[in-house]
Amino acid sequence: MTDDAARLEAEYAILLQKLESLDREVAAREEAKERALNTARSVGAQLARLGHAAELAGVQFDNDLARRLYWNYPDVHVAEIANPMRVHEGQVSRYVGTGEIEKPCMSGCGRTLIWHMRNRTDAHHQPRYCPECQEKRDAQREQDRREWRAREDAEHRETVDALRAAVDAGVQIRRYADFPGVPHTWEVDENGFPLALRDER
Ligand SMILES: [Zn+2]
Repeated sequence: MTDDAARLEAEYAILLQKLESLDREVAAREEAKERALNTARSVGAQLARLGHAAELAGVQFDNDLARRLYWNYPDVHVAEIANPMRVHEGQVSRYVGTGEIEKPCMSGCGRTLIWHMRNRTDAHHQPRYCPECQEKRDAQREQDRREWRAREDAEHRETVDALRAAVDAGVQIRRYADFPGVPHTWEVDENGFPLALRDER
């Protein structure tokens, strides 16, 4: 096997390893989702028991709790919430008010934000952070992006400089396999000059 073929094979092997990791992570995510759903069903079963106990005690189910279950836990079925309330599934929405609920900011800054939900699945589209924290996170992300870009540019520049130095030193390289980070390093013009350098500005 030539060096080039061996190298290509090694790169394929790394790709397959990475795909296996991705498979494992996705499977773990699915399992976590499955566990959350199982827990939601056990909450539903607990609501049925609680409703029974409340009825025996002659106490009405707490509407605030019903409201919280309805808006904060979309994985709990409406029928399961209706159960301890001793109402029909279709009547639950009468008791749980509008979807304006207060939520703590996820960063733990102590501030609260208001979710405006039109329906239970709207929770996925609601803000997680208060405006102040969101602004900080956006700024941080932008900063990270700039730093990553600067690192990439510096690495690229370094590789191109090394390639240029090799060419300037008169090293006759027909192939530029040592400069994999620079696109077109394998291409040369009619004078044997790498296109990667010609294109560099
Ligand atoms: Zn906050």
